Amino acid sequence: MKDGELDLCGAESGGHAPDMPYLAAGDSFTFQCAGCGGCCRGREDLVLSGYDLYRLARRLDLPPKITARAFCRSHIGTVSRLPVLRLAPVKAEGNNCPFLSGGRCAVHEARPLACALYPLGQEISRDGTVRYYFQKTACGGKAFRATLADYLAAQGVAERERCDVLWATRCMELEQQAPGWEAALGPVILRRFQAKLADALYYRFDTARPWAEQFCENLAWLAGERVRLEAMQQTLLSKKRMDAFKSINNGGTSDE
Ligand code: SF4
Ligand code: SF4
Repeated sequence: MKDGELDLCGAESGGHAPDMPYLAAGDSFTFQCAGCGGCCRGREDLVLSGYDLYRLARRLDLPPKITARAFCRSHIGTVSRLPVLRLAPVKAEGNNCPFLSGGRCAVHEARPLACALYPLGQEISRDGTVRYYFQKTACGGKAFRATLADYLAAQGVAERERCDVLWATRCMELEQQAPGWEAALGPVILRRFQAKLADALYYRFDTARPWAEQFCENLAWLAGERVRLEAMQQTLLSKKRMDAFKSINNGGTSDE
């Protein structure tokens, strides 16, 4: 799977399709699972939110950036124009998730949202409304029946929902701003700003402190960095124009 095929989209599990019913809190659904670990194999599509990375880093007792270097790869999203981080599949093991160990998840209590949700999908709208839907699986094995509310609570999704909404809505706001910074910044300074974006979204976190307050601090810091880098870009452009003007003038003098 190529990087360009994956992006942040504010929805997990590939997005909602017409045959996937939305569920209300009290609605029940049934699915079967043999616990074979098959849904962790051949996975190249596990996109992480900043909160997912923070939880993994806290579980591994590593800084988020070191965790990402060890287990993730990143690119700039084709549509979002934001940094997209995904778990790096292990090629030597048929593109399995790097945390699949002995058929089990080695980071179960800190697994990413997409893993905790399965077989549900989550959709978050710009105003922060959250909807869940059921994705039919072709799996056999033990049958499970649960209401949406019970399943979300049991999988730890309910308790993290506030952070996931904050992540999705702020990323959607940044996506709208992206054409502005891409127009204002030249390639060199744009790359510097994209590194700042990755810091703000993923890396500039202390896992001893709560994630949400640091995310808000990071977004305020990022806004300041954007102003600073856009001013730097303007200074560079003015200098270039001045140099070009001088060069024309000097050329004119030597011709006379
Ligand atoms: S959902 Fe299916 S593929 Fe995943 S562990 Fe269960 S049986 Fe295996
Ligand atoms: S993080 Fe855990 S649950 Fe998710 S794909 Fe990897 S091994 Fe499976």
